[in-house]
Amino acid sequence: MNAEEFRKFAHEAVDAAVDYMENINDRPVRPAVEPNYLRDLLPQQPPAKPENFQTVIDDFNHVIMPGMTHWHSGKFCAYYPTGFSYPSLLGEIYTAMLATNGFNWLNGPAITELEYLTMEWMAKMLGLDAAYYSGDGRGIIQGSASEAVFMTIVAAKNRTIKALQAKDPSVDPWEAATKLIVYASDQTHSCTEKAAKIMGLRFRALPTDDTCVLKAETLRQAVDEDQAQGLVPFFVTATFGTTSTASIDDIPGIVDTARHFGIWSHIDAAYAGSALVCPEFRSLAGGINGADSFNVNLHKWLLVHFDCTCLYVKDKQALKDAIAITPSYQQYKELISGAVENLCDYQISLGRRFRALKVWFTIRSYGISGMQKFIRGHIDLITHFKSQVEADGRFEIMNKVQFNLICIRIKPEYCQIAAASPAADPTALANLTNSRLVDLINASGVFLIKSDLHGKVIIRVVIGSFKSDMLSTDFIWSVIKRCTDEVLAPTIC
Ligand code: PLP
Repeated sequence: MNAEEFRKFAHEAVDAAVDYMENINDRPVRPAVEPNYLRDLLPQQPPAKPENFQTVIDDFNHVIMPGMTHWHSGKFCAYYPTGFSYPSLLGEIYTAMLATNGFNWLNGPAITELEYLTMEWMAKMLGLDAAYYSGDGRGIIQGSASEAVFMTIVAAKNRTIKALQAKDPSVDPWEAATKLIVYASDQTHSCTEKAAKIMGLRFRALPTDDTCVLKAETLRQAVDEDQAQGLVPFFVTATFGTTSTASIDDIPGIVDTARHFGIWSHIDAAYAGSALVCPEFRSLAGGINGADSFNVNLHKWLLVHFDCTCLYVKDKQALKDAIAITPSYQQYKELISGAVENLCDYQISLGRRFRALKVWFTIRSYGISGMQKFIRGHIDLITHFKSQVEADGRFEIMNKVQFNLICIRIKPEYCQIAAASPAADPTALANLTNSRLVDLINASGVFLIKSDLHGKVIIRVVIGSFKSDMLSTDFIWSVIKRCTDEVLAPTIC
């Protein structure tokens, strides 16, 4: 492809992007394809000779697009959303244009310096203390919340072992690592357990209360028990907005307890952290400024394309001490003089994308007010949706609706009434009925998922797509209502 051909196809790509996004709600949200559909449609051998790029684009339209789920559709209410905005897309285009590798300052000083600036802006927008991004603190972009949590556990492990050695120089670090234990709740995203698993560390999931909240007292008890067994508790994740129900742990209590025992406390605000751009959510986030580290995914609910997780650590040296290795070929005078840092010293891989550009484009284009409007728009939609659920009367609301996630289920008594004969186990019947409802909804033009709440099947509805609006919200409700009528029809239940 020569430069002029690129220009032509790139112009067409921009038109395609706008047409796609502006008409996305007219498409079926999920593709109607079966597993391995693609193998039958494309050659099994790579092309021996160059192909005309128009044929590649034709295949993109006829083979790839039919296999896509449309995450930015207003009919998408599964998982948590992923970010999109036009300025962020432009950021991706310009980043791809530069095609750099920003692992150190030398490789493009703007990459490092814009990342510092945007992370500082973001922290200020979220109400985070300066300790998270200045002095000993550092804000750094990671690829995902999972990477962010992993990095903080690495830092905490290193700091803990060093502290043990400072008390007793005979401590063997390898032996000490076998005693370390990581905590999270039974509602914490699996990334904390996964990080512990990768690192070969012990992990304990602590039970939450009826509202899916991890209490400080539960942590305290676990620490007492584990210390009595000779273990060394050293890390806890508290969540601001859990994955299943968007609940908020007792963050002030957990942070205090962790501090008391010398445990590193991390706040995972991957999803709900974005809401903190609106001051009215800050009262829910008490304690976050007392923790050791914090992460939020701008690529979930704050208009920035995947991938973009902001990780803030108060003790940046702990992280660097744990992972930084600087071979001679990566040394240069500004680094040696201490005038600059290498961003690769804060992450697993050496290479890194210029991700701050899309963040900078997005913040500048929206401003704080535009970002607040985006979040509040979804809150208005979920409030509207919730009022319809309440008016219907057949559903229980299973979570505290604090953000734009509502968890519902058909009340067990309606499942009993619809059953041919009353079931011996009303919970099992309700679970079966609600699972059927999810399948039917997903076959009817909406995409959502179920989850499990202490043994009860719940239906999660997240209204947070780029193209969520009143029309799509009403559509979601009309589908749920119609499918509920069908599921509760006496012959079915
Ligand atoms: N933490 C929470 C609370 C989440 O909800 C999720 C995903 O939904 C994650 C972490 C994992 O995010 P990532 O895909 O960025 O690793």
